[in-house]
Amino acid sequence: MNVTEIADGVFFVEGPASNWVVLVGDGSTTLIDTGYPADAPLVDASLARVSAGAPLGDILITHGHSDHIGSVRRLTADGAVTAWAARDEIPNITRLELHQIGIGQILPTLWRPRFAKWTLHAIRAGGLKDPGVRDVASLEPGVARRFSGHRVVPRLTPGHTPGHLVFDLPDHGLVVTGDALITGHATSTTVGRQVLDAKWHWDAARAGEQAAPLLVDARIVLPGHGTAEARR
Ligand SMILES: [Zn+2]
Repeated sequence: MNVTEIADGVFFVEGPASNWVVLVGDGSTTLIDTGYPADAPLVDASLARVSAGAPLGDILITHGHSDHIGSVRRLTADGAVTAWAARDEIPNITRLELHQIGIGQILPTLWRPRFAKWTLHAIRAGGLKDPGVRDVASLEPGVARRFSGHRVVPRLTPGHTPGHLVFDLPDHGLVVTGDALITGHATSTTVGRQVLDAKWHWDAARAGEQAAPLLVDARIVLPGHGTAEARR
């Protein structure tokens, strides 16, 4: 796990296979995404390291894949923490529907070492467990809200999943992109801003369209996979 303070009170955490972001301010802490179920100890350690004791109040979810919502159910179980996502993504998060790559799509790729390694990690990290969350509040896309003192604008970016959100933090010039735009992936040989391979997306054409402005406009991207990247 690698924790970097990107801006005042904005911490980017690189987990073993996916990333999350911690916002700290105004006496509370907010998480954006939460890694795989097996990343729970790392999620807790990252919160303990940067929150200075400010309690977790909210979790913002980019999308319902198990490498992003692994700790949501656990952290919201006592009712003191609210999980938020786009209305169109909630069925994927509650597992009413499931838009995620399955074993049927993975099997034909296993002869490729990168895919075999990724698959093994995904299974060990709890990727086949059901991390479905029951209570998720809906966030209005385009409407700014304050979380732990930071202005956050959720933007609907359907393509990777039906209701994927990226989170704009305009006061810091950065965008938390989830899987709408990444900068590296265990199964990819390229580094830098890129769109995940078509097979990972619910609708690959729309995923490409949504990523296009992020590729050029976002000053700093904090992706779901890969390192934080500032535009040169
Ligand atoms: Zn994903």
